[in-house]
Amino acid sequence: MYNKGTNSMKKRIIIVGGGFGGITAMHALKKQLGHNIDVVLIDYRSETLNKPRLPDVAIKGENVEHVRFLMKDAVKQDGYLLIQETVLKIDALAKKVYLKEGGIETYDYLILAPGIEKHYSGIDGFREFGYSICDDIQAPRLWRKLQSFKGGPVFIGSMPYKSGSRVDAPKLLAPCEGPVGEIMFLLNDFLKKKGLGDSSPVTAFSPAKIFFEDVGEKVRNNVGKIMKSEGIGLITEKTVLRLDANHIYFTDGTSEKCALAIILPEYKPYDFIIKSGLGDEAGFIPTDEQMRHLDFPKIFAVGDATSLSVPKLGHIAVVQADIAVKAIANELGKKVKIPKFDPAILCIMERDNYQATMIYSNVLYKGKLDETLNGPVAFGMKWSFDFYYNFTRGHMPPEFAEKLLVNHLRKKTKKV
Ligand SMILES: Cc1cc2nc3c(=O)[nH]c(=O)nc-3n(C[C@H](O)[C@H](O)[C@H](O)COP(=O)(O)OP(=O)(O)OC[C@H]3O[C@@H](n4cnc5c(N)ncnc54)[C@H](O)[C@@H]3O)c2cc1C
Repeated sequence: MYNKGTNSMKKRIIIVGGGFGGITAMHALKKQLGHNIDVVLIDYRSETLNKPRLPDVAIKGENVEHVRFLMKDAVKQDGYLLIQETVLKIDALAKKVYLKEGGIETYDYLILAPGIEKHYSGIDGFREFGYSICDDIQAPRLWRKLQSFKGGPVFIGSMPYKSGSRVDAPKLLAPCEGPVGEIMFLLNDFLKKKGLGDSSPVTAFSPAKIFFEDVGEKVRNNVGKIMKSEGIGLITEKTVLRLDANHIYFTDGTSEKCALAIILPEYKPYDFIIKSGLGDEAGFIPTDEQMRHLDFPKIFAVGDATSLSVPKLGHIAVVQADIAVKAIANELGKKVKIPKFDPAILCIMERDNYQATMIYSNVLYKGKLDETLNGPVAFGMKWSFDFYYNFTRGHMPPEFAEKLLVNHLRKKTKKV
């Protein structure tokens, strides 16, 4: 059992969670502070999961091994320490992390990046009749189901998001509808190819009044046009109550015949955050815009687990991780500019035949960009990102790539 204290001169930074936020934070710490600090990454999983590629596993039959990589390889690159364990509790006053097997880890700084729990059991009948794509158990399970699917109405949507009020973040009813968009397009193509297009109408549902409420009207209209041309239906203000073998039931008392329900479950904060007194009233971690916990200055938090991350996007987790690490680096004496928290929604929805629709929008955060890019270029961008991320074990493509994209989109916006 590792149980290193803080008696060395080096500051000890613990990162909880080796997903998009945690791995980015680790690589950024290496870049900013190298071996002048000790870094420990704690995750109960052995592999990092590239979730944006899960729709490929669920609907194109991609091998699940291709969408994850060993965390120990990423940690080894940086020369830091990995502990494969579950965090049970954090004592923020004593600066201690309690692990399931009894270990206690002490930190000078803590970066929390545990993501959120997907609350499948919150949907009555999900276990028997529901499907999802949010992790590496659900995505292959959906692929297996599709192999024997004989057709019938298909419904795809998400459960509502319950946010807290300590942080001034956008109020959304759906946690993130990009994955819903991606599944509906991919699945619609899959069903047509299988000759099930006519017997299997695909309908997206949203708990909100507006589907894709996190983007501006321009993007929403573009997505709407593609949905229309593909014959994909839409119903709004629908929250799933329960499922049975042939129906989907909503909380407003309506129901629909349904042969396949694919649901993004409630995004629930983990119990250990709540029990440790680190969550807001909804359980998400409240931070300032440098990702510092509002009550505990030595704790930073990034990614889906934070109140500030709305909608729940890997792109936002990565931006937050960069800011948090630069804030810590400054405190430890390295003069580095801390970027402003200026998030954008970046989501690439793959379709069949090397096509994809990329969304880039920051109107939710009072920006002016609200653009889509359709076609093989968007597909190539997704492919390149996935390849780069997996090949480099969790590094982000060079900053200039996004700058080029944003400049291109700005010019496009000005032309209109
Ligand atoms: C199908 C799908 C498609 C998506 N597409 C996009 C997209 O196109 N663009 C985009 O920006 N985002 C997309 N996202 C969202 C993106 O994947 C998430 O926002 C991102 O993964 C959040 O990163 P994170 O670091 O906060 O959490 P995660 O990536 O979930 O990582 C959290 C880590 O913490 C670990 N952990 C949790 N609890 C504990 C504990 N108690 N002890 C130890 N370890 C723990 C977990 O094992 C996990 O490894 C998509 C999501 C899905 C499901």
